Amino acid sequence: MKILKDRILKDGKCFPGGILKVDNFINHQMDPILMKSIGVEFVRRFASNPINKIITVEASGIAPAIMVGYLLELPVVFAKKKKPSTMENMLTTTVFSFTKNRSYEVCVSKDFLCPGDKVLFIDDFLANGNAAKGMIDLVKQAGAELVGMGFIIEKAFQHGGEELREQGIHVESLAIIESLDHCEIKIR
Ligand code: 5GP
Repeated sequence: MKILKDRILKDGKCFPGGILKVDNFINHQMDPILMKSIGVEFVRRFASNPINKIITVEASGIAPAIMVGYLLELPVVFAKKKKPSTMENMLTTTVFSFTKNRSYEVCVSKDFLCPGDKVLFIDDFLANGNAAKGMIDLVKQAGAELVGMGFIIEKAFQHGGEELREQGIHVESLAIIESLDHCEIKIR
């Protein structure tokens, strides 16, 4: 997706450990016009898949997920990183975050992820695929079906995408980063 790639090259910043910061248009300040184009592109790429629900993880996945949900007129469910005390009927799984170097629990209510649901997962980044694997686990626990996974940015040098595609999952990434070596952004 050219406008996204151009924006990453213009505004993205590299940090040690293979971290790409896109804080001024995705992860902190957000560009809604770009986000709308991202939503349109996801809709185009998953057009042939039957979907009845979009799922994501808080917080950074919510903006692209809501765009896709809005365009497809489908509900959007975000997995929570803190189990609400008032919430019963929860499915939970553990995810390791390499950016934060710790594990955390994510949960979703069985009321909103149900048997027979055909879900599209949307998130901001795909790195090692741990968040994605956690969501696959939640979808499985719910008895729902994972139709595909869409990421704004995939870091190919971290191989999560490879693993997901090997499992036969329909994965779409709108910008694929080949390398961040020597703090230089190389996009496929
Ligand atoms: P994974 O679980 O695939 O290893 O990492 C994906 C999650 O970690 C994303 O949801 C994102 O929040 C975070 N993440 C991974 N790599 C980066 C990065 O380079 N930059 C930013 N901003 N977040 C990242």
